[in-house]
Amino acid sequence: ASASSADLIAEVDEHAAHNYHPLPVVVSSGDGAWVTDVEGRRYLDCLAAYSAVNFGHSNPVLLDAARAQLDRITLTSRAFHSDRLGPFVTELAALAGKDMVLPMNTGAEAVESAIKVARAWGYRVKGVPAGQATIIVADGNFHGRTTTIVSFSDDPQARDDFGPFTPGFVRVPYGDAEALAAAIDDTTVAVLLEPIQGEAGIVVPPASYLPAVRALCTERNVLFIADEIQSGLGRTGATFACDLVGVVPDMYLLGKALGGGIVPVSAVVADRSVLGVLRPGEHGSTFGGNPLAAAVGLAVVRMLADGEYQRRAASLGGPFLDSLRALVGRGVVAVRGAGLWAGIDIDPELGTGREVCERLMARGVLAKDTHGSTIRLAPPLVVSADDLDWAVAQLAAVLDEL
Ligand code: PLP
Repeated sequence: ASASSADLIAEVDEHAAHNYHPLPVVVSSGDGAWVTDVEGRRYLDCLAAYSAVNFGHSNPVLLDAARAQLDRITLTSRAFHSDRLGPFVTELAALAGKDMVLPMNTGAEAVESAIKVARAWGYRVKGVPAGQATIIVADGNFHGRTTTIVSFSDDPQARDDFGPFTPGFVRVPYGDAEALAAAIDDTTVAVLLEPIQGEAGIVVPPASYLPAVRALCTERNVLFIADEIQSGLGRTGATFACDLVGVVPDMYLLGKALGGGIVPVSAVVADRSVLGVLRPGEHGSTFGGNPLAAAVGLAVVRMLADGEYQRRAASLGGPFLDSLRALVGRGVVAVRGAGLWAGIDIDPELGTGREVCERLMARGVLAKDTHGSTIRLAPPLVVSADDLDWAVAQLAAVLDEL
């Protein structure tokens, strides 16, 4: 007999580091918006691996691209060229309306890469004195888990006991363009923001904010870096969350869904005037831009190129967010979101976000709390309208139970 959920969870508890606190579900397969656990129970996946599975589990187009590449070649390193990298970077740059791509693997690596590029741009192009470059970030930011990235987090759980920290970052309130204007000085090389803050609870800034950031960055000769690792690639009903307010940053940071939920693929996408500062030998990654990643990433870019997924997220997202907003006053305090991406603040008197997620799981809906009493819903964009209605009904039933 195959191992039970309880046995498999016990194994993980014993031998995997406890850096996560997963819900007690052991998934063994997935198809579209649904996953199945080892006992055969089915669940609607309303997290989609933090938006890395935007195109659904076992997406046939992406699996075909991956299988075809597996049979040819998977890794060359960038010491040589592969026949997959050119098409991938060309079409990804075109999707973003930029000239160049720096391919990496994880989201945190894309952020780290952008920090290096922005600093080099500051010294070599803007003329900031050596060693003095600063980057402005926002309160409540989440950009990953490396030592440099946690250096500019304001979340004690992300930082405590992980110092000493990397200098060169200034934090300002999110959504406040005046505070940003006041923080920019001659050493500022970049402003790094999530256009909608994901881990903070799907925090959507005022509509005037990103346009004001764009104008300030242009005026003061500062790079605007948009971390679209969670918000990008269809999730909000547009290719990029920046598109929702008509803003074009200097650098897009992409990850998660760029790998189709199959392989880790991330990228910095920018014009030659920015990414062109990197010289051979200054930056790299053994797996960055590998043929398997490039083949899957290219298939993802092509899926996004005709706008079908973005339209789907926009048209399903409107009624989805409306039906969640109808729960305000019935155990829900506030709902924020865009497209198929929602942050739902549960009345803390009723219970924690964790409790709500455990009860949702018992009813066949997988979601994850973020920051205490906020729940994030981010189903794969292939989800059906009926499935979304059902998920919202399960949430309403859980709120009635509490
Ligand atoms: N940036 C944002 C906005 C994210 O949401 C995340 C992950 O949640 C990251 C960066 C880090 O990505 P990764 O976990 O692939 O390093």
